[in-house]
Parts: sequence; C-alpha cells; structure tokens
Amino acid sequence: MKDKLLLDAFSALSLGVIIVDAQYRITLWNTWLEAHTGLTASETLGADFFTVFPDLQHHRVGDAIHQAIDHNLSALLSQSLHRSPFPLYAEPARSATRLSQAVTIVPLGDTERFCLIQIVDVTAAVRRESLLRDQAHELLSQSLSDGLTGVGNRRYFDLCIDREWRASKRNNKSLSLLLIDVDHFKRYNDCYGHQRGDECLQQIATAMRNALDRPTDILFRYGGEEFCALLPETHSAEAVEIAERLRVSVQRLGLPHANSPERIVSVSIGVASTNQQQHTEYGQLIQSADDLLYVAKRAGRNTVRVTYPTREPRPVNTDGVGP
Ligand code: GH3
Ligand code: MG
Ligand code: MG
Repeated sequence: MKDKLLLDAFSALSLGVIIVDAQYRITLWNTWLEAHTGLTASETLGADFFTVFPDLQHHRVGDAIHQAIDHNLSALLSQSLHRSPFPLYAEPARSATRLSQAVTIVPLGDTERFCLIQIVDVTAAVRRESLLRDQAHELLSQSLSDGLTGVGNRRYFDLCIDREWRASKRNNKSLSLLLIDVDHFKRYNDCYGHQRGDECLQQIATAMRNALDRPTDILFRYGGEEFCALLPETHSAEAVEIAERLRVSVQRLGLPHANSPERIVSVSIGVASTNQQQHTEYGQLIQSADDLLYVAKRAGRNTVRVTYPTREPRPVNTDGVGP
C-alpha cells in the first residue's frame, strides 16, 4: 500500500525523477519524464542510463552520477553552464527546443548505493529573466541617449568623461574633447521654424556620428544645438583631423540656411587635448574646448580651432562667456 502511494506521488510530481542503481540501471522513471521525453517507463526501466542518454556519458551529468555512486557526493548543476542537458521537450513529438533545466543529483542508500536525479523545468523562469534583462538593457540605453538625435545624452557624457579621464591618467594616454556648436542656429529656427530646426539637428547628429569611425569615439548632445565628441587615446593632432572630418560631414549635407553668410548649415568646433595643456581635472578640459569654440566663432565660424591665436588673449573664464 505504501509502495503504491509512493509511486502515485512520484507520478503526480511536476518534475522529472530518475533513480539509477550502482550499475547505472534505471530503477525509477516517473510520469513527468514520459511526457517530456516520449519514452515510457516500460522502455526505460532496467535499461542502462547511458544507453538511454548516450550524450551524458562524458558530460557533467555523467560525472555527477559517478560521483554520487562512487563517492556519495551530491551535485547541483549550474543552470547557466548546463542549460538543457537532458533531451526534454514541452511536446516531444512536436517541439524542437529543449526545456531549460535545473538538475540535482543526490546519492541514496547505505549498503546498496543508488542515485536520485531530479530535473525541474525552468524554461519560464529563464525566459522571464532574459526578457527582464532585455528590458533593463533597453531602459538603460534609453536613459543614456538623447531623445531627439539618438546620440549619447548629457548624463551619458558625464559618466563617460569621468571614466575616460581616469583611464587616461592611469594609462598615461591623451584624451581629446571636441565641443561642437551649430552656427547661427537661432536664425535657422527663425527662418525655417522649430520643427525644421529639430530635423536639422537630427541630420547633423547622424552625419557626425557616421564620420566617427572608431568604436571608442562617442558623440553626445551636450545641450541645445551643441554636441561634443569624446576621443580616448587621441592626441591633439589626430583630434584636429577628426574634428575637421566632422565639420566637413556637416558642410557636405548642404542643408540650405538662407540667413547665414555661407548659405548652408555649418558647425564650429573647439578641440582640447590633455597632451596639449595641463589640466588637473576634466572640467578644465571642457573649459578649454569651450574657449577654443569661442575662438572658432570669432574666427568666422564653420572652422576648427585647437590653439589660441598668438595675438588674441584667451578669453577670461567668467560665467556667460562662450560662443
Ligand atoms: P552661434 O553661431 O554663435 O552659435 O549662433 P546661434 O544662433 O547658433 O547661437 P544661440 O546660442 O544664440 O542660439 C542657439 C539656438 O539654438 C537658440 C535655440 O532656440 C536653438 N535650439 C536649442 N536647442 C534646440 C532644439 O532642440 N531644437 C531647435 N529647433 N532649436 C534649438
Ligand atoms: Mg550654442
Ligand atoms: Mg550655435
């Protein structure tokens, strides 16, 4: 009566249960396994475990069964390393993807050793976990990108410059920063409207992002019609080349701007590099780029500036001074 009750209980379990004896013969095979392998108890009882599951012979599952029988040791198989060791399916006749499994292997018995294998279907939990991970990733990338242009936002810039500043000090490599401002953009809005202004900013951002070809160089919207590019491991000469490439990429868009001297949309760029000037904190690097952007504006716009002109004094760093 007790045996019958126990067998009924094993049949009712919603997990797979296998017991093998010391000769690796299957002595218990529950109903859940029949449903998910397509193999009945009459086909498997008495059969050699490794004949039924040949792929598990040289697998962590096989090792764990040997350890349980020979050394009385239990094992919990890490799900991230061994996601689907057993050929188990939601519907064996129809499904092609194995169930995700959590497997535990426990020794049983004293004089005569057996091994209990329990398999839990964790497919739903794994799917939920991966969905949550994707959502978290999506949220993170949304929170770090600018809604209008899709480039990095100011928050992301603050994170990156802090990280890259410390990396440049640690590795003794130069870090460059480009501060980019759209020329006469107030007039553009006045002339074509705010909506067209927004579209213009999107096109500028795309053109400049495409002009940056190293994966470590990142473009950000610094605010309003200002962008910046952070160029790790880049000295000033290289940074000027990159800045010039960005300036030309915007000029080549050929976006009409009836109310600017050049009749097309352009940008001015200030370039600051740690190899060119001593900076004790990254705020000074930003300030240098801003000062040089001001110099570029004064020089007539649609241009790149990396050094201060000998006759023009560096602007005083007071609030409100800028392009
Ligand atoms: P300068 O060449 O000296 O930089 O002149 P500017 O007109 O570009 O500079 P100013 O700072 O006077 O004006 C910036 C303009 O950029 C004003 C503002 O309305 C516009 N702007 C800022 N953010 C946005 C935006 O998100 N969309 C649009 N359409 N316009 C913006
Ligand atoms: Mg501006
Ligand atoms: Mg501007």
